[in-house]
Amino acid sequence: MAIGLTTPLTHDSAIIIVGGAGTIGSSTALHLCRRGYKNITLLDVYGFPSDYAMHGSSQSAGASDINKIVGSSNSGTRGEITEMTMDMWRNDPVFKDYYHEVGELSAAADSEHIADLRRSYEAKLSHPVKSKEIKWLSNREEIITHCPHLASGLIDGWQGIWNERAGWGAANDAVDSVGRELRRFGVKMVFGQGGTFDRPLLDDDTTRCIGVITKDGAKHYADRVVMATGAWSPSLIDLEGQCVSKCWIVAHLELSEEEAVRYKSIPVVYNEEVGFCFEPRFIPHHQPGKDRWIIKLCDEFPGYTRFMETQPFGAGQPIKVSVPRSHSAHPTDTVPEEGQHRLRRVVEVMLPEFKDREFVKSYMCWCTDTADAEWLFCQHPGHPGLYLATGDSGHSFVTLPSAGSQVVDLLEGKASAERMRKWAWRPGRGDPEHTGRGGEPPKDLGDLKGWAHGDDERAE
Ligand SMILES: Cc1cc2nc3c(=O)[nH]c(=O)nc-3n(C[C@H](O)[C@H](O)[C@H](O)COP(=O)(O)OP(=O)(O)OC[C@H]3O[C@@H](n4cnc5c(N)ncnc54)[C@H](O)[C@@H]3O)c2cc1C
Repeated sequence: MAIGLTTPLTHDSAIIIVGGAGTIGSSTALHLCRRGYKNITLLDVYGFPSDYAMHGSSQSAGASDINKIVGSSNSGTRGEITEMTMDMWRNDPVFKDYYHEVGELSAAADSEHIADLRRSYEAKLSHPVKSKEIKWLSNREEIITHCPHLASGLIDGWQGIWNERAGWGAANDAVDSVGRELRRFGVKMVFGQGGTFDRPLLDDDTTRCIGVITKDGAKHYADRVVMATGAWSPSLIDLEGQCVSKCWIVAHLELSEEEAVRYKSIPVVYNEEVGFCFEPRFIPHHQPGKDRWIIKLCDEFPGYTRFMETQPFGAGQPIKVSVPRSHSAHPTDTVPEEGQHRLRRVVEVMLPEFKDREFVKSYMCWCTDTADAEWLFCQHPGHPGLYLATGDSGHSFVTLPSAGSQVVDLLEGKASAERMRKWAWRPGRGDPEHTGRGGEPPKDLGDLKGWAHGDDERAE
């Protein structure tokens, strides 16, 4: 069958974004609107996060969370993109109310990790602006000067980078803000079964993608289809092993108001051998007396996969793919026992005052890793009109304000040759180095205890 050409892209072209309520999808829609595109449809299983994620079970999207780190010690293309993003976090009316610049400590105790951080620090010293925003902290005393709450922490041997122009983003509020802006622009949105991607719609005579068929059987026609389906991407479209989806664990600690006042405005503390945590966040509730103060924390490790046989679009037969199991669809899932231990360790090390306090919530959150931790932003080689905007590799929330501009550059044929090469279709690499995260190969959830309750074919 011939590979058909796509129609020229105009401001009236019909563009569908699958996964449009997630980080990269909503950002893509925002940038399309800002560049004058008028016929945009978002499809997603769930709508924008709203405060549902805080009070009830969390939704699927990686951004459906109370806070995420916003800042970066990257250089190269990722550094350039983060720089543009930081400007938007500080100044763009859609984002600026959701960014909290409390500073970030990125530290380690292991000598190899310290050496990596030191390299990243030194790479920034030649930058006229960044060099003034960062500082190397080489001992406990220097760390406590910037992070006084770590005075009772288990931080012997820690060294790292202090970045005063970083902090955290109120993740679901920021994505909600994008959603409100998209509604203002008149973007069409379909959520639920009718917004759930089943397969691409192909032209009868060519392999060109001309739309999407959703789970309810409806056909949605389009000139361009963008798949921004995050960790679900490799189970929906055969990506030939380019992305491996993995999960990490999030936990919430509840503080009293008095405790929250003491911990308010602490910097984000990240240690790649342990995990990371944020200042307490006030979570208002519509019922009097139910407002809460929550500290969010995460463990850091190579992630868990969930490999099973499935047949994504484009695979001639069932293949092994790591398929996310969303907390929204399975709100009673717990987290693996060993993950609980790791989370307790984060508290012991970073917030020892609360080492005996139970978590009020814990759940698994999914990302999809590429082998080189670079995005997969490209046209599908076999289906003109079908674009991939995925491969977040666990570091894409920070780019919420700007990731979409890169996707729109791709659609408009304006992406630089260097970026197109970096983010091109690049099958056959698998995940040989666990996406540069290092450490042991990721374990599979199917081999672990304590995470599901018998309704999963991989659970005990
Ligand atoms: C524990 C944890 C902590 C993290 N912390 C940070 C951090 O501090 N800073 C940072 O920058 N990044 C962080 N990340 C990574 C960040 O959350 C992700 O990189 C980012 O959110 C991924 O964006 P995405 O658009 O690719 O996917 P998502 O935001 O997950 O969006 C995918 C969307 O696709 C939808 N979808 C799925 N299947 C279908 C279907 N069949 N049909 C239609 N729609 C579908 C989903 O509902 C979802 O809305 C963290 C991730 C985890 C797991």
